[in-house]
Parts: sequence; structure tokens; C-alpha cells
Amino acid sequence: MKAEMMGGDGRWWNWRGRDFKAKVLFSQKGVATQILLLAKSSFFLLDCGDGTLRDLLSMGEEWIHALRGVFLSHDHPDHTAGLFALLSFLRLAGRKETLVMASPSRRLELGINHYRDSFFGGFPFEIEYWESGPSAIRLCGCEASAFPVPHRERTSFFGTAGLVPAVGYAFIGRTGERVVYSGDTGWFAGLRNIIQDADLAIIEATFSQPKGEERHLTLGQAEELAKLAKWALLVHR
Ligand SMILES: [Zn+2]
Repeated sequence: MKAEMMGGDGRWWNWRGRDFKAKVLFSQKGVATQILLLAKSSFFLLDCGDGTLRDLLSMGEEWIHALRGVFLSHDHPDHTAGLFALLSFLRLAGRKETLVMASPSRRLELGINHYRDSFFGGFPFEIEYWESGPSAIRLCGCEASAFPVPHRERTSFFGTAGLVPAVGYAFIGRTGERVVYSGDTGWFAGLRNIIQDADLAIIEATFSQPKGEERHLTLGQAEELAKLAKWALLVHR
């Protein structure tokens, strides 16, 4: 596998554990976030922002059949805008393996189904939707579960919006290794417990100064949380 060759010396992957390897393909607030998690020979995508397909193709093509799940933290476009390009590429490539699509809201499901039905023949693969929740699903020998997080957007024209359905994810591997992804989240007390002792925590660290409003973490908060985990990657900067 090209990704393995690239990561064989430990440099391509941002983190290599016993059960998982993680690579932040790209992450910039308001632009795109896409993170790759490898569990043995199965790939999971954590969020799917603009450019995900380009980023995946830069590591070869093995992922086309080995991508098992897309875990979306919420519907904001910087986390989902790459979905349609990815799905249409998988269709062209003749992928047949079922793809799990995890999301805390059903809104994208309607859009994806409409998109699929606009193509001749639809998709050659099934999409299994999972409305991300606390009861874990088993996938490729791992367990994935979701936890709700407080998150909302603020735009200069419209001001502060209401909270959106948003989650973070926890993955537990074959030997018990635990990877936590915060998604986009404002501060809440329970986050400390979730991140405590994680083998890897991928934590958003958007703001330099506190802004309240349950929107995002500050770099300072993310750094405090990072100390609770055995290893951490700070994203969404
Ligand atoms: Zn967001």
C-alpha cells in the first residue's frame, strides 16, 4: 500500500498506535477538515471537507475498496463539502463494498439519495446510514460511538446561529486502544472525562481568545485537554 510505504518510516502518519494510525489530510477552520483513521487494513474518514478526494488520491488508490466508513461530526460545509465528489468517484471506480455513513442529522441522507438517483444506475454500492449516537456500532473489528457536543456557527452577516446537531466520536480498537475525535465543539465539562486516558485525542483548537457562545474551543482549552490524553493532534486552526 502506498500509504504504508509513505508511512513506513513513521513520517507520513501523524500518529501510529497498535490498532490505529491517524493522518490529518487537511484541517483549516472554515475551509475543510478531513482526517484518515486506518484500522488494520480498513480506512475510516473523520469528516469530509472540500478536497478530500484529492487528498485521498495523493496516497494511491487502495483506499477506494478499503474505505469502510465516513464519520461526519456535523453538517457544516467545511466538514461535508467533499462528500459528493467522493461518492461520484467511488461510483466511477466501480466500488461495490457497503459504505457506512455516520451523521448526527438525517439532512444529508436526503441530499445524498437525491444525488445518487440522478445518476444512471445510481451507485454500485450500498450506503448504510447510522444516526451517530451513544450505542456503539461494530465495524471492521472496531467499535465506534458518538457523543453530543455543543456547536453553532457565527457569520458576519447573519450573526450567531442556533446549535446544530453535532457529535464527536470515540473508536475502540481490537486491543482496546481508544481514539477520540472532538469534532467542532464549544467547551463542556464532560469533554475532560471523554478525553481522559485516550491513546489519541484529535481536538479542535479554533480560537486564540475565548468567545463563548458554545461555538469552538480555544487553543488554550485544547492544550489543557491534550494533556489528559496519551497523545493529541490539534486541528481546525
Ligand atoms: Zn462547524
